[in-house]
This record gives sequence, structure tokens and C-alpha cells, in this order.
Amino acid sequence: MDYVNRVLQELKEKNPGQPEFHQAATEVLESLKAVIEANPAYEKAGLLERLVEPERAVMFRVPWVDDNGNVHVNKGYRVQFNSAIGPYKGGLRFHPSVNLSIIKFLGFEQIFKNSLTSLPIGGGKGGSDFNPKGKSDREIMRFCQSFMTELYRHLGSDTDVPAGDIGVGGREVGYLFGQYKRIRNEHTGVLTGRGLAYGGSLVRTEATGYGVVYISQEALNSKLQGSFLGKRVVISGSGNVAIYACQKAQQLGAKVVAMSDSNGYIYDPDGIKLEIVKEIKEVRRARIKEYIEKVPTATYKEGHKDIWSIKCDIALPCATQNELDLDAAKTLVANGVILVAEGANMPTTLEATQYFLSNKIIFLPGKAANAGGVATSALEMAQSSSRIFWSFERVDSELQNIMVNIFRNIDSASQKYGYEGNYVVGANIAGFLKVADAMMAQGIV
Ligand code: NDP
Repeated sequence: MDYVNRVLQELKEKNPGQPEFHQAATEVLESLKAVIEANPAYEKAGLLERLVEPERAVMFRVPWVDDNGNVHVNKGYRVQFNSAIGPYKGGLRFHPSVNLSIIKFLGFEQIFKNSLTSLPIGGGKGGSDFNPKGKSDREIMRFCQSFMTELYRHLGSDTDVPAGDIGVGGREVGYLFGQYKRIRNEHTGVLTGRGLAYGGSLVRTEATGYGVVYISQEALNSKLQGSFLGKRVVISGSGNVAIYACQKAQQLGAKVVAMSDSNGYIYDPDGIKLEIVKEIKEVRRARIKEYIEKVPTATYKEGHKDIWSIKCDIALPCATQNELDLDAAKTLVANGVILVAEGANMPTTLEATQYFLSNKIIFLPGKAANAGGVATSALEMAQSSSRIFWSFERVDSELQNIMVNIFRNIDSASQKYGYEGNYVVGANIAGFLKVADAMMAQGIV
């Protein structure tokens, strides 16, 4: 059995019941075979065995009291996967589906994504199975304070710097930061995605969504001499990533015709009115189906998966993992899609990804396409430590450069290793090589 398959088999035996982690590791390691086989020194150094084992994983109890005085206990996680190229960096997710497998898949992917940004950040991820939906502000605050009362001891601006993810936005980052500062008595850049009044960076809120569109625009331009102008776009989700992907796509002249939430999707043939979506989802945290009350010409359908049956040129899955399966991929291809870029982490199943690749659709995997968020977080870290904050235009232009460079790197890696146009392989190889070099140089640690 070859080295990659042996490591994958051992990983499955040692980590039973972690299907999302198996899926992510399989996708990455299988695509690295050409590079691994060309470098036998990796096997001698046990590089892959070390790469798939987190440096540290903490699990902890998060007790909190609701507004009626009832006690609740949630699970908290932080997986510090790899610090070869910089401090652990990666978001916190609060969602009932969170478990160790999901946090490990996200942390593992984060290693390569962070490496691709070309900034000095390692990979980590954390979160809780806490469900923020329907909770009052005070309940959210008490939960965040309890979560940080344990997590603070594992963090530090040169050790581990979390950010937001599903269910963790500006409000939660604020409460988490407040409790960290109180316990540690220091005002440092220990979380990114902070508010502008207390050390945040301009463009961080928009960064992931904007970045998805910037890298897609570069791919359209360089491969098809095309752009977003006049394209029909479908975006799943209506959270942070989806909203700002929609905003940038519209600014570049595209017509975004559909968006969704976990209950269903809206279709607006005249183009989504983003201000209405923002008011529903960002201000009132309500359900997207309310959109049709404001825009009677739009339609709403229960269930989020059918969104991919809507005809479009560009599909941007920006909600959650495994939301776009083989059937959806077949429908998109039959309807003439030309580019799919993953705003979410692993939204496309392995079979659907293969289908896009074999049909020569431009497919930009999440670790490249959604790296703009973490890249801007690293820019926030640089601004925090220098205590000098940049203009919107400066951060936005750094973000654009980073996304263009990521596309060029994954494109050239795909060509160099004989997989031209396969950006899944290109992104994995380009992200892996830097981490592997750093790990090899640092000895068996
Ligand atoms: P948000 O919590 O802001 O939004 C998530 C959106 O996805 C909501 O519209 C939510 O609907 C929907 N959603 C969540 N779960 C499901 C589900 N099971 N089925 C269908 N829809 C669902 O999260 P973000 O926008 O921050 O994150 C979205 C994705 O992007 C995640 O995969 C995240 O890991 C990834 N990502 C985020 C980054 C960031 O900077 N925020 C950076 C890189 C990646 P509802 O309102 O009903 O809950």
C-alpha cells in the first residue's frame, strides 16, 4: 500500500466516527500523491502522520444560565492543528451540528488555506454545539463569557487567534473579546473580526464574500477573458459570506437571482435587492422567506437544496458543508454553469466536485476561494500589533492582490504537476508545499 493510502487507512482506524474529517483528509492527501511520491524524505520524516494529527485539541464544558434561570451545558472545542508557519488561526463556529469531526475537518482545511494566503498563519478551528437561534442578547453574552472563561488559557496574539464563523459574528466576537480582556488584563489582537472601535480592521466584515468574487473574477478573466458583467449568479446562504459575495457580484455588474437560508430559498428574477436581505438577516436575524412580503414578484421555496436547479452562469455555495451534491452538480452543468466557487467550507461533495472537474467547469475550492476572510484577519493582526489602522481602500486593495495571487499560484501549481485546470489539486499542492517545507525544517515536532 502506498504512503498516502496507509496514512488515510490509519487515520480512519484511529479516528472512528469522524466522517467529515475523513472526507477532508482524503480529498487533500489523495490530491498530493504526485508531490509525496516525488519526495521520499516526507515518509521518512513521518510528515503526513504528523500533519493529520492536531498539535493539540481541547474539549471543555460550557455551562450557562438562561433568562429563566435554567442551567444549560454545551460542549466547547478548540483544535490547534498546525503552527509550522505561524500562530494557530481559524474561526469559532456556534451551531448545533458542531462536533469534533466537523471542527477537525475545518481545522485541517484551514492549514492549507492559511498557507495559500502567503501570510504567516497556522491552522486551527473551534466552536460549540450551542445554538444561538432564538437566544436573547444577554443569553448570548453569558454563553460567550462562559466559553471564553475556559478558552482564554489556550489563546494569545502569538499563540492562537480565533475569529468568527457560522453563528459567530461581530456581536459574539465583542462578548468573547470583552471577557478575554477582563481575565487577562490586556488589550491585544487575540481575536479578529473585532469592531472598529476596539481594534478591528476595515473590510474584515466584507472580506470573505468579496474575496470569493475577486478570485472568481480573476479566473474568469484569465481563463475565459470574461467577467461578472451581465452574468446570472446563484448564491446559497444569506449570512456573512453570502451577503458580501452578493454585494461585490452586483457591484461588478452581475444579476444575483437567488439566495437561501437553512429553511428555504428565494428566487427574484429581477435581481436580489440586497438591502432587504440585509435588513431581514443582519438586523432582525429573521427568516429569508420574509423577502417575498417585500418583493411580491419574487418566490420562496421550502428546502435549501433545490436552489441549484435555478439556471445560472455562476454558482457560489456560501452556506455550509455538503450542501451541493452530485444531482445538484449535474443540474448546474446541464443548465450551462461556467464557474463554481466555494464561499463556504466544503459545500460541494466529493462526487459533485469530480463531476465539475470532469466537465471542465472552473471550480474554485473553498480553501482558495474563501481565503479572503482569514487573509484580512491576518491584516487585522498586523494592524493590531503596529497599532496603526489602514484605510478601507488600502485593505481592499491588499485583499484583491492576495486573491489574484492565490489564483495565479493554484493555477501554476496545477500546471506544474500535470493537472492543468484542476484547482482542487493546485490549491492543495500550493498550500501543502509551504507547510511541508516549514515542518521539515523544524525537525520531528
Ligand atoms: P453565517 O452564520 O453568517 O451564515 C450561514 C448561512 O448559511 C446562513 O444563511 C444560514 O442560514 C445558512 N446555513 C447554515 N447551516 C445551514 C444548513 N445546514 N443548510 C442550509 N443553510 C445553512 O456564516 P458565514 O456566512 O460566516 O459562513 C458560511 C460558510 O462560510 C461556512 O461554511 C463557513 O465556515 C465559511 N467561511 C466563513 C468565513 C467568514 O469569514 N465568515 C471565512 C471562510 C469560510 P440560517 O440563517 O437559517 O442559519
